[in-house]
Amino acid sequence: MAVPLRQTLKVGGYVARQRIARKDKFALVLQLEPLYQCNLACLGCGKIQHPKDILGQRLSVKQCIDAVEECRAPIVSIAGGEPLIHREIAEIVAALVERKKFVYLCSNAILMLKKMDVFTPSPYFAWSVHVDGLRERHDESVNRTGIFDKAVEAIREAKNRGFRVTTNSTFFGQDDATSIRAVLDFLNDEAKVDCMQISPGFAYEKAPDQENWLGVDRTRAIFREAFADGRRRRWRLNHSPLFLDFLEGKVDFSCTAWGIPSYSVLGWQRPCYLLAEGYASSYADLLATTEWDHYGRGRNPKCANCMAHCGYEPTAVMATVKSPKQSLRAIVDTLRPQPVGS
Ligand code: SF4
Ligand code: SF4
Repeated sequence: MAVPLRQTLKVGGYVARQRIARKDKFALVLQLEPLYQCNLACLGCGKIQHPKDILGQRLSVKQCIDAVEECRAPIVSIAGGEPLIHREIAEIVAALVERKKFVYLCSNAILMLKKMDVFTPSPYFAWSVHVDGLRERHDESVNRTGIFDKAVEAIREAKNRGFRVTTNSTFFGQDDATSIRAVLDFLNDEAKVDCMQISPGFAYEKAPDQENWLGVDRTRAIFREAFADGRRRRWRLNHSPLFLDFLEGKVDFSCTAWGIPSYSVLGWQRPCYLLAEGYASSYADLLATTEWDHYGRGRNPKCANCMAHCGYEPTAVMATVKSPKQSLRAIVDTLRPQPVGS
C-alpha cells in the first residue's frame, strides 16, 4: 500500500472534524526538529549552517510532547539535523506513539543499525530513510562515499525486524526522469520499502549549492515523464493522489504552510521549515501573527520555485476531504498490494 489505510482514515476524520468546527487553519503534520546537529554535510542542506551554539541545543522530551499536544497534528515527522544523535530520541518517539500519533523518524541511516534496538515496531512508527538516488548519485548528494550502501543495509535490517520503512528522496537540477525512475524503481521493487516520499529540492538561501535546483516547469516535466508507463500507479508513494497530480502540473494549488508547521530549538518557524522569517512562541501565536497571504508561489519571490509538500500537500489533502470522488480515489489508492514481507 502507499499511505496506510489507518492513517488515511484517521487524517480524513481529523480534517472533517476541523471543518465541522469551522477552523480554517490547523496542523496536519508537525515537522519536529529536536536538534539541528548532523553527522553529514549535504550540499543542499538548509539546516546545518546554524552557528555552533544553536547546533549544540536540543529540544527536551517535554518540549516535543507539548508542541505535539498544542498543535494536535495527527502525524509527526521528526527531522533535524540527524534525530538519532539526540540522546532522548527513543523516549520522544515512544511518547508520541503512545499518544497514537503517526511518527516518521527521518534519518540519513548512519546510526540506524547502532540505535535500532531502542525502537519497537508499531503501526504508528515508521523510519523515513534519506535516499536521493542510486549509489553514485546519493553519495554525491550527501557529499560522502558509502552512505547509499549504509542506507540500503539499514533499510533491509529494519524490514527484517518488522519495522515499517519509508524513504524520503529530494530531487535536484542534476536529476531527470531517468534518475528518478532508477531510484524509485529500486526502492519500490528491490528494497521493497513500504512507501516513498518525494520532493523537488528547495533553494535554501544558505545552502552551499545554489545552482542545482529545479524550477516549476522542469519539476512538472520530469515528474510527468517519470510517472509515465504506469509507474506512478505501481510505486508506493507516500502522498495524496492530488499532490502527485500537482507535481505533474495537472492541478495547481495555493500554499497552506500552516498545515505542516515546523517546531525546533528556535521555536515555531515562520512560515514553514524552508523559509526562516522569524519564530513564534507557540502554534497559536504562529497562526495569529504570520501574514499567510504573503507566502506561496506568485505572492512572494522567495517562494517562486517552491513545490514542496510542506506548502502544497496540506492543500491537496484538504481538497481531497472536500470531494467525495477524491476521497474515494485516496482510499482506493491505499488498497494496492503491499511489498512481500511487510
Ligand atoms: S542528512 Fe539532512 S540534516 Fe544532515 S546534512 Fe544532510 S540534509 Fe542536512
Ligand atoms: S511556497 Fe509555502 S512552503 Fe514553499 S517556501 Fe513559500 S511558504 Fe514555504
